[in-house]
Amino acid sequence: MALLHLEIVTPDQIVLDTYVDYVGAPGVDGEFGVLAGHIPLLTALQIGLLYYRIDGKETQVFISGGFAEVAENKISILAQSAEIADNIDVKRAEAALKRAEERLLPLHKNEVDHMRAELALKRAIVRLGLTKRI
Ligand code: ATP
Repeated sequence: MALLHLEIVTPDQIVLDTYVDYVGAPGVDGEFGVLAGHIPLLTALQIGLLYYRIDGKETQVFISGGFAEVAENKISILAQSAEIADNIDVKRAEAALKRAEERLLPLHKNEVDHMRAELALKRAIVRLGLTKRI
């Protein structure tokens, strides 16, 4: 029986609220895993894929960074955006990828916020990776 409560919340919605066996999350210092009974933890997340397992079945979720809190057999994820593969708009992610790639051309070096474009590029690459289109 899955004993770890997983909740993923964005400013728009509760993306997921379920019980799982295991969560792997993209922490800023690398991936970390959480099982029921984990010690309390608060950490920042990076853009990446979170995954959870229920009865051996693994599901991946795109996470655009944010925070994870673990307490009392519950892991709460607060993220600016989070999507399962079925909810990713591939055309939108492809357009975001193209836009970010263009902004990162040396030609635009002095006009664009490089860090912002790098993060947009990473979000697009990870989203497309989850949909297996890249
Ligand atoms: P874009 O430039 O297309 O807005 P982005 O990476 O800047 O992409 P975010 O800031 O991560 O977008 O997300 C803004 C909102 O749009 C969130 O609600 C997020 O879930 C949604 N969103 C962004 N890109 C996609 C996508 N490819 N498919 C589905 N939802 C998306």
